[in-house]
Amino acid sequence: MDRNEAMLRELHLHPQWKRRNLSKPVVDEQAAIRHAQSVKLLVAPPVSPVHTPSVQQEVEVRDTPALPTEGRISELAKLNWSELKQQVRDCSECKLRADCTRTVFGKGDEKADWLFVGEGPGADEDALGEPFVGQAGKLLDNMLMAIKLKRGQNAYIANIVKCRPPNNRNPNLSEIATCMPYLKRQIQLIQPKLIIALGKVASNALLEKNATLLSLRGKLHDYNGIPLIVTYHPTYLLRSPSEKAKTWQDLCLAVQQFD
Ligand code: URA
Repeated sequence: MDRNEAMLRELHLHPQWKRRNLSKPVVDEQAAIRHAQSVKLLVAPPVSPVHTPSVQQEVEVRDTPALPTEGRISELAKLNWSELKQQVRDCSECKLRADCTRTVFGKGDEKADWLFVGEGPGADEDALGEPFVGQAGKLLDNMLMAIKLKRGQNAYIANIVKCRPPNNRNPNLSEIATCMPYLKRQIQLIQPKLIIALGKVASNALLEKNATLLSLRGKLHDYNGIPLIVTYHPTYLLRSPSEKAKTWQDLCLAVQQFD
């Protein structure tokens, strides 16, 4: 067993499964980069593709938010945790609400030093009302364990959008802009010491960029004075396990920064 393999085993990130129909596994960095570029970074999670019709489809939703973003941010800045949760529960500011079963607020230690931010709920999260509860969630738990964290203990898990986009598509820019004020308030309340952005959508939304994940990884960013580190989305890692070692590098950078 080589060093890398031993390290990944230690992290519960091993074995690295390879697709049987690949004649040659992707092993070197350049090949891994080409491979990552050739697949869509965020693909549908391996959960039921069947779209669950909303039980609340009669909820009236808007095309554009009632208040412009700045106005909403200052309104939300006055809310405490329970008021904010209620606002999210009652939200109908965009069309996503009509198609999902329930909003997924986020979960964890509300005074956590570490904040992990994903893209948006998938089918499992929509069914249970909690972020990262499917296969991607199990992998996220392993990532947390690798750096001695646990869901709910010094870690908080949230998403950019609180409603499941239909058929697990990426949230669009308008949906992200409409939902972002909720996450902003969550961040103000938590005051984390470090933010880990999971995947391209979350990273670009938080950093207000339109960049590739490859260009964002491996460096320290800043979100309103809070250090932010970008890594792969667990759903992507489920489909491209050869990238798990790079995720470990990102987590090492995060721990280094935290220390
Ligand atoms: N993917 C995400 O981005 N968030 C979740 O909560 C689940 C899957």
